[in-house]
Amino acid sequence: MMPVKCLFCRIVNGEIPADIVAEREDAIVFRDVSPKAPSHMLVIPRRHVDSLDEADEGMDLGALLRLAAEVARDEGLDASGYRVVINTNDDGGQTVRHLHLHVLGGRQMTWPPG
Ligand code: AMP
Repeated sequence: MMPVKCLFCRIVNGEIPADIVAEREDAIVFRDVSPKAPSHMLVIPRRHVDSLDEADEGMDLGALLRLAAEVARDEGLDASGYRVVINTNDDGGQTVRHLHLHVLGGRQMTWPPG
């Protein structure tokens, strides 16, 4: 079998350790290794797609968003608020080419983003 090169696919496959927050049939959530807020989680589909731009009709983006809201609620962020971000491709600041939703909370966010 060819080794999987995608970092987040390797986390999905259990080849690289991660601080897993939630596991679903089609998605997992884990804590960002370099948090940009007191709470910083990444929601990713188990199936590899490079980015939001590559997400086809079979990718349930609504389920990913609902899961983001669910883990934010579980983390106690719902009342104070949080931000969900999908960096997409180069200008979007995407560094890992596997679709992921950042869930950030626990501090006041600023606007516009950098
Ligand atoms: P982006 O820059 O939007 O592509 O986000 C990628 C995120 O993945 C960054 O916030 C990184 O800190 C995070 N990251 C990179 N490697 C790991 C890892 N092994 N475990 C958890 N988070 C990671």
